[in-house]
Amino acid sequence: MEQRDKDHARHLAKNSEDIVVFMIRRDTQCAKCRKEMFDGNLLTLRDEQPLCMTCAGLDDLTFLTSGDPAVTRRAGKHSSRKAVVVRWARARKRYERQGTLVEQAAIDRAREESAADAAVREAKNKKAAAKREIEDKQYLLTFTAELRRLFPGCPPEEVAEITRHACEKYSGRVGRSASAKELDPEKIRLAVIAHVRHAHTGYDRFFDINVPKRDARRMVQAKIERMLAKWEVEQRTHTQP
Ligand SMILES: [Zn+2]
Repeated sequence: MEQRDKDHARHLAKNSEDIVVFMIRRDTQCAKCRKEMFDGNLLTLRDEQPLCMTCAGLDDLTFLTSGDPAVTRRAGKHSSRKAVVVRWARARKRYERQGTLVEQAAIDRAREESAADAAVREAKNKKAAAKREIEDKQYLLTFTAELRRLFPGCPPEEVAEITRHACEKYSGRVGRSASAKELDPEKIRLAVIAHVRHAHTGYDRFFDINVPKRDARRMVQAKIERMLAKWEVEQRTHTQP
């Protein structure tokens, strides 16, 4: 083994106290007990001599494969002895960490702790989801109330549609910056304009006949403004039977 490779294998151990164990590729023999070792067996080097796990006094440790960083970290902490298992990756021409050798009791304890953590995390997620649901409902109610206040003439079914659309947008929003408290009348107005443009002006049809967006907007502008002005005053027909 070249010095450079040895240095890299050692580097993978991170903690210089950790023993480095190699998962071998080439068949070899234990320098002490002469046991044959094959592809996939574990050995460690002592004074440059390959030793099997028994001769190295590591055969009481259990191999914990990499994959769950939290369990690996905890097991390493709980184990009084630890070895890092590396294997030569042919394609990448370097040693790669396969896992650790630690005491079985440490693995059990680490798994228990991680399972307990998962339960706490799940409870937290549930609580957060419930909170979001309440916030969404609150937003919906506030939005509806504000919309009705600003546009009392807007028919109820359209209020519902505008609100649903606006709240869908709010729900998907990263960071959820728009809380119900900071509902901006301008935002509501824009939502109403978008709705009117889409539902009452035939704006979307302009695209089918390749009218440029700017021209299409100008053409429908007057129509939108008339509708908004109408909705800004209460329509007797909606409130009386
Ligand atoms: Zn041996």
